[in-house]
Amino acid sequence: MGETGVCLRFDEELRFFLAPRNRGAGVRVPLDGTSTIGHLVESLGVPLTEVGSLSCAGQAVPASRRPQAGDVVDVRPVNRPQRLPISPPRFLLDVHLGALARRLRLVGVDCAYSNDAADDELIALANTANRVLLTQDRGLLRRRSLRLGGHVRGGMPDQQLLDVLQRYAPPLAPWTICPACNGRLATVRKADVEHALQLGTRRTYDAFKLCPDCGQVYWRGAHSRRLDGIVSAAAAAVGSAGAGQVSSRSIAMPGVTPSSTLGLA
Ligand SMILES: [Zn+2]
Repeated sequence: MGETGVCLRFDEELRFFLAPRNRGAGVRVPLDGTSTIGHLVESLGVPLTEVGSLSCAGQAVPASRRPQAGDVVDVRPVNRPQRLPISPPRFLLDVHLGALARRLRLVGVDCAYSNDAADDELIALANTANRVLLTQDRGLLRRRSLRLGGHVRGGMPDQQLLDVLQRYAPPLAPWTICPACNGRLATVRKADVEHALQLGTRRTYDAFKLCPDCGQVYWRGAHSRRLDGIVSAAAAAVGSAGAGQVSSRSIAMPGVTPSSTLGLA
């Protein structure tokens, strides 16, 4: 191919998107006269939502540029933390990321989720609500109509949570959002929720929060140590990402953590 093609050099961080045979130092592709650099990058499996910059001979080039024979293009990932046009970041999670949605809400990140939205619906929802669509579906990220999207790395929800926090470094406010429905939790008096509690809970706990949207009551329950662990790991991840901040007032709020009804598994 030599001078008749173009060579794409992907940063190591992006190579897991490539077919195994393409994970070397550079990928040579033929020129067809019409494809842009963006098309070539995506055709090799890397969504442009994951690309931070493209450069050719040290000069930044747009994804819309048509490459010349012999060009060598460097493809770099998005910076971490990534700057977004919305602050604080808000997300919409695709149907396969329900466990991640509950974790993000637990640490106070605004996170819409529905378990039965079709792809077109997800894109329309993300665009109209000005949310970043998080998914592991590269096809979804390649859709032209999608304004803001991000690929989530990791097979397990805890890994996915750290990936999202390190990428976007959102401000954290643990125990302020309902993990079940994304509503804003309100502190309530025990007397106001007592009627909804089992006898054992009523005897054991005194501090409660209520989701006004779905009616769920939260208290420090049997799983609180595990939830505390998730929050601590989240705070560390955002801290190491450099731009986020944790509301210490929220973290130090005494005695109130969601109950064992969270279903975080
Ligand atoms: Zn709720």
